[in-house]
Amino acid sequence: MSDATGIETASLSDVGRVRSGNEDYCAEFQRSDGVHLIVLADGMGGHRGGATASRLAVEAIGEIFASSSRDPETVLHEAFSCANDRVHRAALGDDQLRGMGTTAVSLMLSRDGVGWVGHVGDSRAYRIRDGIINPLTSDHSVVAELVRRELITAEEAAVHPRRNEILRSIGVEPEIRADVSAIDVRPGDRYLLCSDGLSGLLSDQEIAEITTRETPLRAVQMLVDSANRRGGPDNITVQIVSMPDVSMTDVVTAGVVPLDDAATAPRGRALQIAAAIAVAVGLLAAVAVGLL
Ligand code: MN
Repeated sequence: MSDATGIETASLSDVGRVRSGNEDYCAEFQRSDGVHLIVLADGMGGHRGGATASRLAVEAIGEIFASSSRDPETVLHEAFSCANDRVHRAALGDDQLRGMGTTAVSLMLSRDGVGWVGHVGDSRAYRIRDGIINPLTSDHSVVAELVRRELITAEEAAVHPRRNEILRSIGVEPEIRADVSAIDVRPGDRYLLCSDGLSGLLSDQEIAEITTRETPLRAVQMLVDSANRRGGPDNITVQIVSMPDVSMTDVVTAGVVPLDDAATAPRGRALQIAAAIAVAVGLLAAVAVGLL
């Protein structure tokens, strides 16, 4: 998906090679003010329970995002609380769903270079900038806690018998506290959200290389394929957001009308770059004239 802001997004969820059902769920939302939200969840608690929890959580987060005009941090906290409430109530009301829960990670991006990440559990958000990947979340998991206390190494965590145990999840308790933080967003940045079905099988470096090299649409497919080639033991979900190389503010200032046609996204980006070059040449010319 891409739009007049030049932000491109892609999402893919796959059952993997071992599980019989997909308990991950993800979605993309966009508000009329141009703010994007991507959100994914990895459900747990039996076959039906896991799939229900992740879907309810993603839908609740999307709904609050779409309807609330409060500041972004408050919106994300509200959205996660609402998700927790819905999943928790649904679990109490149905024996087959009792005990279900889910992780959730979400990223809100505005066109003016600000973003907000919210998460609960061990689904992750990363930023890839100039080919360098950095985590934007820290897992609420037993092994992450052991690594933080320097009791085990990151390498040991990857194969630890308790690596699937999470310490915070949506829907299990009546109340939840999400981690929410603001991030700076720059032109050309790529952002990736994933469930542990991806992060458990590919190194951060492998994720960075594919995400940097490919379009979001191709990258999500290649990342899922890579995890499946390594056995695909879990459901695999990945979402990518690519920020335009030149910010729309620059282009609009240069007097270029933004393209409003999703099908011409690559051409739109080329035009943005061309516009930036034109501005630079214009400035040089102005300086040259001034000197004469
Ligand atoms: Mn998983």
